[in-house]
Amino acid sequence: MAYRARVADILIIEDDATIRTALVRSLGARNHSTMTAPTALAGLESLVAHRPDVVLLDLGLPDLDGGALLSMIRSVSDVPVIVVSARDEGAGIVAVLDAGADDYLVKPFAADQLDARIRAVLRRSERGATPGPVVVGGLVIDARARTAVLDGVALDLSPKEFDLLLYLAQRPGEVIAKRELLSEVWNQPYGGADKTVDVHLHWLRRKMGETADAPRYLHRVRGVGVKLAPPT
Ligand code: CA
Repeated sequence: MAYRARVADILIIEDDATIRTALVRSLGARNHSTMTAPTALAGLESLVAHRPDVVLLDLGLPDLDGGALLSMIRSVSDVPVIVVSARDEGAGIVAVLDAGADDYLVKPFAADQLDARIRAVLRRSERGATPGPVVVGGLVIDARARTAVLDGVALDLSPKEFDLLLYLAQRPGEVIAKRELLSEVWNQPYGGADKTVDVHLHWLRRKMGETADAPRYLHRVRGVGVKLAPPT
């Protein structure tokens, strides 16, 4: 299979000029484009001005602790951040992951390892990106705001009911197997007797004012799964 790695714009916030140069060279060799900042504040400015796809963040910066910068980044952006640091204590790793880092690498590391981490966070951020509301008939779902409106009335859904509705609505007209719903919406392996999907579908139907026998949007396809389609 032909595979072409996605080219990313990467912001490197690192005060050590030798490491900065090495990162620019190795990421450039993998077709990424890079910009660099030697201080936390220059990094924040560059982030706002250039909106990179990924940030590599050194924890030990001259003007501000990298952890504090990470909190500032998180208040303005959900860009994937990979913390790159010489500190290898477990507590520090947990703290930056809690503060919103997407991944963590301890120096020294191999260029291949960094590239693999970059591709992994890009895949995750692309999957999470939803350009606009999902609209099917009179149903409007905003994935970012986590709101669902049916015929102008907001639906009061539990988190899993919302996830299920969004998953189905992103592929209108397509029959989706319960096995897939269980693994993709609940992250659970499929067990034949599992009623999780049925129970949530039941509540979703009630909240949407329909039943399995008189469907409007949620259509049961016996022995296969369920399909969301606009009323005809
Ligand atoms: Ca440093």
